[in-house]
Amino acid sequence: MRLWVRARWRHHQLIVNPRSPVLVVGSLGLDTLKTPFGEAHEILGGTTSYFSLAARMYTDVRVVAVVGHDFPQEYRDLLESGSVDLRGLQVTEGKTFRWSGQYRFDMNVAETLDTQLNVFADFHPRLPEDYRRTQYVFLANIHPALQLEVLEQVQQPKLVVADSMNLWIDTAKPTLTEVLRRADVVLLNDGEVRQYAGSANLIAGGRAILDLGPRAVVIKKGEHGALLISRDDGVFVAPAFPQDEVRDPTGAGDSFAGGFVGYLASRDDVSSEAIRRAIIHGCAVASFTVEDFGVRRLAEVTSRELLARYSVFRSLTQFVDEQVTADSRSEGRQKIR
Ligand code: AMP
Repeated sequence: MRLWVRARWRHHQLIVNPRSPVLVVGSLGLDTLKTPFGEAHEILGGTTSYFSLAARMYTDVRVVAVVGHDFPQEYRDLLESGSVDLRGLQVTEGKTFRWSGQYRFDMNVAETLDTQLNVFADFHPRLPEDYRRTQYVFLANIHPALQLEVLEQVQQPKLVVADSMNLWIDTAKPTLTEVLRRADVVLLNDGEVRQYAGSANLIAGGRAILDLGPRAVVIKKGEHGALLISRDDGVFVAPAFPQDEVRDPTGAGDSFAGGFVGYLASRDDVSSEAIRRAIIHGCAVASFTVEDFGVRRLAEVTSRELLARYSVFRSLTQFVDEQVTADSRSEGRQKIR
């Protein structure tokens, strides 16, 4: 049965080059969520679950994380039923990581109600030997010291993408700065960029991070899409898919990252053009995640739905210029002179 599901997923993958898997290191846990549209108790959460379920639509995913023995088998099965490789998952004595959050009217802002690190408190990422050669690496939001431990173990990756959160900007900024220096692409949300750079202006804040060394900074702006500030490609702006019902925004950022890194790995392409397309893939995948609680919607997205949504993005920003006749053009030129 398991094999059949795996085969079906391979068929659905948007893979061109399945030899470029992605490695993700981050949290895996149980979330309790409250939004104006309902509540969910101890459902599958953590940064790696959202990332993996998004990235598996593009390529094979290798997970490094930790859970306790109380982590439900059904969630493990869900992840393994795709192309998600859990050989790097440590199962240790103790309770699984738990996070509880709520969103009020402004669904762009998550309010943390409770964080129980549990087995995550003593976690040190240990990469299986063959994971160390993974070319595409996503350092999901974990303590920056652990992100550095991952970088010590990988061998010459082609692309390192790093995420973080307000907690580490507050408590571990020098270590986080070292991570940002060593990343190729930094993924942060707008509030985090402002907080890190101490700048109200996102472009200035993004450029300050770029000055540390990464090739690009991608700023996630929730319902307002994403902004790329790049060393070799200037500024690129992507809208968010106009959703009229956002039920739970948890995991939007991590599934954006899954679409973004997953796409680049599947094409084995880190060119500026590919990075722009990857941002649109990230926005498209994230737009499904927010339609329902937890990973419920994300886990069911088909490649047909994903490609249809991807193509909507082109029309969101396309516009036709006014017809300018030869006469009016020369008239305009005379006026300008
Ligand atoms: P986001 O994509 O930013 O909405 O990420 C949501 C996920 O981050 C949730 O599933 C949480 O379990 C996870 N999370 C929240 N706080 C932390 C933390 N301090 N460390 C690691 N993961 C966290």
